[in-house]
Amino acid sequence: MMLALPEPLAGMSRRLARAVPFRPFRLDLPQPVVSFSFDDFPLSAAENAAPVLEAYGARGTFYFADQLADRHENGQLIAGRAVTADLAERGHEIGGHTSSHINVQRVAPDCLIADASANTSAIAALSGQAPSSFAYPFGVVSINAKRLLAHRYAGLRGIQPGINRGWIDLAHLHAQELYDVSLPLLRVELLLDDLQRRGGWMIFYTHDVRTQPSSIGCSPAHFAAVVELVTQRGIAIETVANVLYRAGVSMPGWRRIG
Ligand SMILES: [Zn+2]
Repeated sequence: MMLALPEPLAGMSRRLARAVPFRPFRLDLPQPVVSFSFDDFPLSAAENAAPVLEAYGARGTFYFADQLADRHENGQLIAGRAVTADLAERGHEIGGHTSSHINVQRVAPDCLIADASANTSAIAALSGQAPSSFAYPFGVVSINAKRLLAHRYAGLRGIQPGINRGWIDLAHLHAQELYDVSLPLLRVELLLDDLQRRGGWMIFYTHDVRTQPSSIGCSPAHFAAVVELVTQRGIAIETVANVLYRAGVSMPGWRRIG
């Protein structure tokens, strides 16, 4: 069942949802850290980004909506179950992204829970463990979704830009888009300057990783250059799950990934 609010109300609800912390948490990390995450996620991200991270001894976080597997989304072929299982086997984190990639603001509570549970089961079946973190599809956050999902994952990521530091909301982690069209290396340098000066946790997210990427993707060359910059500065790269774990976020059934 779809629940559609008139757009002015829906917009207000999203703004309120972003502003109200559901799981306030004091993030206290001794060193700055960066995570790389991939939403949906296209096969190209698995093929072109995972090996780059591995070459630096690092791992990424791949947000998997199981019903998109082997299908096309935004013109991109989405990775299938075998590829996803292989990534997990190699130590990458497979995060939750709902089963059918639903807009959490437009679905009834029981449907959202059923969909998220199906996604958790699918991920557990192929990776051997339930997802520790979650990314809101389309970056849409609602009060209801936060209330329903906040305690099902150690951390939930949106697309609101910013470095996570000090008091954060585990039900809405901030993230920085990593797209060729909007984040040139000079801007990455400035963000990393800030990260190193003031500490915290920067989560990058992108979608496809291929030459001539989509407007919400990243080229392999750009991706490699950003990973290189982070590494040159001595900043650690860790999965979202591992940063949460190291920060002391407690979750039942928690296991370290990667
Ligand atoms: Zn998505």
